[in-house]
Amino acid sequence: MTARIIDGKTISADLRGKVTDAVHRLRRDRGVVPGLAVVLVGENPASEVYVRNKSKAVAESGMQAFDRRLPATASEAELIDLIGKLNNDGQVNGILVQLPLPKQIDTQKVIAAIDPAKDVDGFHPLNVGRLASGLPALVPCTPLGCVRLAKTVHSSLAGLEAVVIGRSNIVGKPVAQLLLAENATVTIAHSKTNDLEEVCRRADLLVAALGRPEMVRGDWIKPGATVIDVGINRVPGEGGKSRIVGDVNFVEASKTAGAITPVPGGVGPMTIACLLLNTLRAACAQKGLPAPSL
Ligand code: NAP
Repeated sequence: MTARIIDGKTISADLRGKVTDAVHRLRRDRGVVPGLAVVLVGENPASEVYVRNKSKAVAESGMQAFDRRLPATASEAELIDLIGKLNNDGQVNGILVQLPLPKQIDTQKVIAAIDPAKDVDGFHPLNVGRLASGLPALVPCTPLGCVRLAKTVHSSLAGLEAVVIGRSNIVGKPVAQLLLAENATVTIAHSKTNDLEEVCRRADLLVAALGRPEMVRGDWIKPGATVIDVGINRVPGEGGKSRIVGDVNFVEASKTAGAITPVPGGVGPMTIACLLLNTLRAACAQKGLPAPSL
């Protein structure tokens, strides 16, 4: 079997197009322009790239991007003060604080300071609790992207045996909650799971979010399964250059799986598209408008 490739680039471009159209209609019909504030503390080069890409995507969708920078030496109080100002700023509908933060700052305190209605990363405990309770919530972008990709293969995820490898607050746990909400039968595996390979072989839908380059091998995959590879791992490549690989051995897995996301070009582009979607949804909710069904 050769797996169908789940093309995250095309699927995310389609979603971004729909968000852009909805933003245009919102501006034309209601005079509302959604705004996202992206906060970066320090000069981490990887974070700089992420922040630049996010702000660019926001602007391309017709929304307003507000870049806010603090030096690496900024205190927790300074950052929380900035978040307070953004919480009270009517032009800002979404707030994203780029992680990781410098050591002197308690990440959980910062997340808790964000207005839950503007928490487009979906990390605030209120949104985490609402998701777990089956209530409407702002949901983390990467997990949202994973489920949208899976739904391009399966019209319904109900009854599927889903295995999520990884239990981080950012990816594993929210993916599992979303899959549960879709009525999949969900197992969360992690570094203490016994016989991980056997657990994975049960999966009709396997989501790999463990941050271990190509650890999931072809013979861990149930024939015909759908594989969503969240991993982004930089490994040595040819000629002294590095290359990006996922958590799944793509060459092996694509011989057994029914459908699989590539890395790069799978989950990655969906994360930004879902950030735009969350910002649009947050803006609509704050203005008392119905959320566009995209
Ligand atoms: P993380 O916080 O390091 O969590 C990794 C999870 O994998 C943990 O729950 C850990 O288990 C589990 N794990 C680690 N080694 C394992 C092993 N040998 N066997 C089974 N489980 C194992 O990572 P994360 O933030 O969730 O990210 C996971 C991956 O997704 C990374 O490669 C990251 O770069 C990527 N990512 C991609 C995007 C995107 O936009 N595509 C976004 C976010 C993250 P324990 O809990 O037991 O330690």
